[in-house]
Amino acid sequence: MRKIQFAALVCLLLAAPLAGQEPTIVIRAGLLLDGKGGAQRNAYIVVQGSKIVKIASQATTPTYDLRTLTILPGLIDTHVHISYHFGQDGRASNRGETPAQEAYFTAENAYATLMAGFTTVQSVGAAADVPLREAIARGALPGPRVLTSIRTLNENSGTPDQLRELVRQLKADGADVVKIFASKSIRDGGGQTMTDEQLVAVCGEAKAQGLRTMVHAHAASAIKAAVRAGCGQIEHGVFVDDDALKLMAERGVYFDPNVGLVIQNYLRNKSKFLGIGNYTEEGFAYMEKAVALNNVMIKKAVATPGLKLVLGTDAVAGAHGRNADELIARVREGAQKPMDAIISATSLAAKSLNLENAIGALAPGFEADLIAVDGDPTRDITALTRVVFVMKGGKVYKNAR
Ligand SMILES: [Zn+2]
Repeated sequence: MRKIQFAALVCLLLAAPLAGQEPTIVIRAGLLLDGKGGAQRNAYIVVQGSKIVKIASQATTPTYDLRTLTILPGLIDTHVHISYHFGQDGRASNRGETPAQEAYFTAENAYATLMAGFTTVQSVGAAADVPLREAIARGALPGPRVLTSIRTLNENSGTPDQLRELVRQLKADGADVVKIFASKSIRDGGGQTMTDEQLVAVCGEAKAQGLRTMVHAHAASAIKAAVRAGCGQIEHGVFVDDDALKLMAERGVYFDPNVGLVIQNYLRNKSKFLGIGNYTEEGFAYMEKAVALNNVMIKKAVATPGLKLVLGTDAVAGAHGRNADELIARVREGAQKPMDAIISATSLAAKSLNLENAIGALAPGFEADLIAVDGDPTRDITALTRVVFVMKGGKVYKNAR
């Protein structure tokens, strides 16, 4: 009698989790890149709900047989401007646009980015990012996971005390990161703008509030000041010098040079920007020079031992969906190893966002954010522009085989 009861209990315990289980999806990969440098031929990824539960070397009939493709984690871009677009007037000024029109253009950018295999982006600087972040998180709108700085801080934002207060306000408003301008735009020469005291105030307070920091900085002095102030990530860095590269490496600060997409996009779409703000002929002349400077800079950055080069594109109007161009340039111009470039856009990017236990790798327990590309990107980095399958959080958004 007791024995029967025990057996019945065991049956119940075994049956209980099965009853509530979500359907299992199995995806077969010809080649699997795990995002941390590992590679495996003929792997099966088992997905349940939004998570990866197992990576197996064999399985029964896969739901998606991608044996001719390479599967890797969904790509992560740590620096985009997801709402920036060419509006009704065909220009970046978006003259006469309504908030509803802006929202749809922003949704288009999110869609283009997701279809290009980017399942997470960090957008730096627009209030429009917040409702987009929420709409995508509700699961209704196709787009990458969005993290946002909501606003930006610069040398005119206030005194050190006022800056600390502004950081606390960002925290209260739900910012994921604090975006800081420590130097002028490249179109205005890129010189340092914020004082050391201002940088210490912003990055110190952000740290106290548990917020990450990203600093726009071109001049080497601005980069060094930001690193010494305890800021977490440096953007652009056209005029970075050897000392600044070494300092970032020593302090474990992420460096996100943008060498392959943003400036090329400005030059390609010059007529759509020219005449707006600092998009003057002089500004464009600075940007043309920056292309050559960047090609020298990225070689030095890649060759700096221990420097954490993370992927960010600074994608603006016209560039959304072409984010992988940045990785191609880092490999071609900077001689970065393709596998390192892939890591910079997956597990390393996830770590820079403090999300290294949730995204950026293919392993049990991680979100099922994965893409399949035509070709082996460790041999030919351009394969990252041939995205034929996109899954985010266990849901298939693209299957263009
Ligand atoms: Zn930017």
